[in-house]
Amino acid sequence: MSIIVFLEKEGSNIRNTSLEAISYGSELSKKVNAKVVCVVFGALESSEGEKTGLYGCDKLIHVNDQAFDQAVINVYAHALNDIMNNESGDIFITAQSALADPIAAKIAVLQNASIATNVSELPDLNTEFSVSRSIYSGKAFENLILASPKKIISIKRNAIGLIENQKSASIEISDLKLNPDLIDAEITGTDRTTGMILLPEADIVVSAGRGMKGPENWGMVEELAEELGAAIGCSKPVSDVGWRPHHEHVGQTGIKVAPNLYIAIGISGAIQHLAGVSSSKVIVVINNDPEAPFFKNADYGIVGDAFEVVPKLIEVIRQNK
Ligand SMILES: Cc1cc2nc3c(=O)[nH]c(=O)nc-3n(C[C@H](O)[C@H](O)[C@H](O)COP(=O)(O)OP(=O)(O)OC[C@H]3O[C@@H](n4cnc5c(N)ncnc54)[C@H](O)[C@@H]3O)c2cc1C
Repeated sequence: MSIIVFLEKEGSNIRNTSLEAISYGSELSKKVNAKVVCVVFGALESSEGEKTGLYGCDKLIHVNDQAFDQAVINVYAHALNDIMNNESGDIFITAQSALADPIAAKIAVLQNASIATNVSELPDLNTEFSVSRSIYSGKAFENLILASPKKIISIKRNAIGLIENQKSASIEISDLKLNPDLIDAEITGTDRTTGMILLPEADIVVSAGRGMKGPENWGMVEELAEELGAAIGCSKPVSDVGWRPHHEHVGQTGIKVAPNLYIAIGISGAIQHLAGVSSSKVIVVINNDPEAPFFKNADYGIVGDAFEVVPKLIEVIRQNK
């Protein structure tokens, strides 16, 4: 029996969220006594194979056909389904993403498997195979029994974090080729926001809202983000009025983030915003209204004018570097 872990890349490097999926697979493998087989498609840095071993991968299957870098959901799902069959895979694990979740759903159909998305913990195997998943934008948890022999699990970020579990992953270069008959959609272009840290991947996010008064004041937000090596986010109204680009909009209707540190500047903390940040480990809120709802969800709160607090924060960070 094996646990198949689908790895996504950023360029030719494995994403941190996928490294967490390996950790998850590795911790689960101790409970079900299975091999952890990871699968990655397309171009890959040579050092990345070793990295998978660090988090507990027994075998890395590298599907080297670079045509997969432009592949679509149906193509990936069938390729992973074939690998699952060849490797006696009973459990499929992926880190949640816009690409991975529909792939997981498709594999569930092909394998006649039980599926759980947004999974927030390791399964409880005491009686049956039970998983806990986050629902209602993180406001509640649902316990689900995966009853079929085959199981598909998509984990949310920070479900268990990165856990080192050193193994020497064997690397198998697969000659699996992209099957053009399976291409049912065509990618006609990709607009990339180059040179920026991806919000869903970021360890630190500096986010700001309407309290910034206007786009001309974002310089200090960018400076703070640069000092911290953080990604920049914003509230919905800020992107709606065009102060910031839409790809920075965080929340229920925007991007969901799960960094180790989320700094919210001049954001009130409406429920729709909180829905996108509730998986953050530590939340720091800067707001001049002590009654701002965000303070109820903050680990640390600074009651003060952002235009005074943020420059001081930047100064202190610089002094301590
Ligand atoms: C269906 C639906 C979906 C939505 N989805 C989202 C979503 O995904 N993401 C999202 O963000 N919103 C979303 N919203 C909007 C949400 O309800 C709030 O309106 C929005 O989050 C408020 O943005 P804000 O906090 O920037 O602005 P405001 O609510 O105007 O708050 C500004 C805050 O800045 C503080 N402030 C003002 N001046 C200063 C200063 N000088 N220093 C420090 N603090 C200051 C104020 O005290 C206030 O708390 C959605 C709404 C609906 C109806």
